[in-house]
Amino acid sequence: MSWRRKEYERDRGRQRRTVGRKWLAMRHVVLVEEPVCMICGRKASTQVDHKIPLCKGGTDTRDNLQGVCDECHNEKTAKDLGIKPPPNKIGLDGYPIPKGDRTNGTNEKECGV
Ligand SMILES: [Zn+2]
Repeated sequence: MSWRRKEYERDRGRQRRTVGRKWLAMRHVVLVEEPVCMICGRKASTQVDHKIPLCKGGTDTRDNLQGVCDECHNEKTAKDLGIKPPPNKIGLDGYPIPKGDRTNGTNEKECGV
């Protein structure tokens, strides 16, 4: 029986991101069930976030997913990857520069090693 156990553990160690229709269906379920951002609780959910990032052993199962807004997703992703978000900059006119201008436009980041 020991060989069976070995096979099983080897398979468990492989982490794959769910893609295609299966992921879209899962994403839809999350956004319908959690229409309001689970982090700030104010904005509409537009992203599906992995509570535990895939690169840290998280899975694509429903209990590891949550609906979040763009802003919170970007901040959480940066935090998960160990990137410090730049502080709110103040423009010459005395008003803070909008958050959207701080990011470089990439949304879906993979864990950099
Ligand atoms: Zn939010």
